[in-house]
Amino acid sequence: IVRMDKLNKHFGSLHVLKDINLEITQGEVVVVIGASGSGKSTLIRCINGLEEFQQGTLDVAGKTLLPHGKGGQALQKIRTEVGMVFQQFNLFPHLSVRDNVTLAPVSVRGLGREQARDSAIRLLTRVGIEDQADKYPAQLSGGQQQRVALARALAMEPRLMLFDEPTSALDPEMIGEVLDAMRELAREGMTMVIVTHEMGFAREVADRVIYIHQGEITEQGPPEQLFDAPQHARTRSFLARVL
Ligand code: ATP
Ligand code: MG
Repeated sequence: IVRMDKLNKHFGSLHVLKDINLEITQGEVVVVIGASGSGKSTLIRCINGLEEFQQGTLDVAGKTLLPHGKGGQALQKIRTEVGMVFQQFNLFPHLSVRDNVTLAPVSVRGLGREQARDSAIRLLTRVGIEDQADKYPAQLSGGQQQRVALARALAMEPRLMLFDEPTSALDPEMIGEVLDAMRELAREGMTMVIVTHEMGFAREVADRVIYIHQGEITEQGPPEQLFDAPQHARTRSFLARVL
């Protein structure tokens, strides 16, 4: 569902992603780890076209993105097929929980209001917060807000979900409920790319873990291999710092 070919990304003189080759198949759960500033966020932001790149090609959900933002129609299609959850929940503060979840399906997918509301309740139930539907984001805990963000992304029926440190802004006691919702999603077969520092969670849900060092994928493999028998000294020293 994702294929990156020799993708290169610069921010001015800073070479942030270097010849990234990456293929992700339907149903795969990929966890991306690496030090701060290594390019994890930039990598997943490229996948749904939030960042342009300068060289290489990128196929996502059957559409091709080209360097310098060429292939504009592909972008629209990709955005409807790819859901994203950020560290900061980015909910619409002036909309109720229910309306946060129904907005995009109604305006982008052309779903009827009634149908969208029914599906919103189903999704909120799935993430365990159906009783919060009429509240506003500011009235919820961080963990609840992040689960609304998850339900909102799922309302577009994406084929691929991207997560950029979804639990980093949460108080420790709320991390578990968000990880539980993600675990459930993985179990249902959703294709997911997850940037996280939750190594226990990564080990448990990932089919593959990718380690990025200064804009390069320097090591990848199944979690048992990457965590228990890393091949490279860099991976080992990173893991020694975070585990
Ligand atoms: P963290 O773990 O801290 O979130 P990261 O691995 O997600 O780090 P990125 O956010 O992808 O790292 O950033 C990679 C590099 O690109 C960093 O050196 C960062 O300073 C730089 N960078 C990111 N966004 C921009 C931007 N909009 N303009 C210029 N430089 C940027
Ligand atoms: Mg980041």
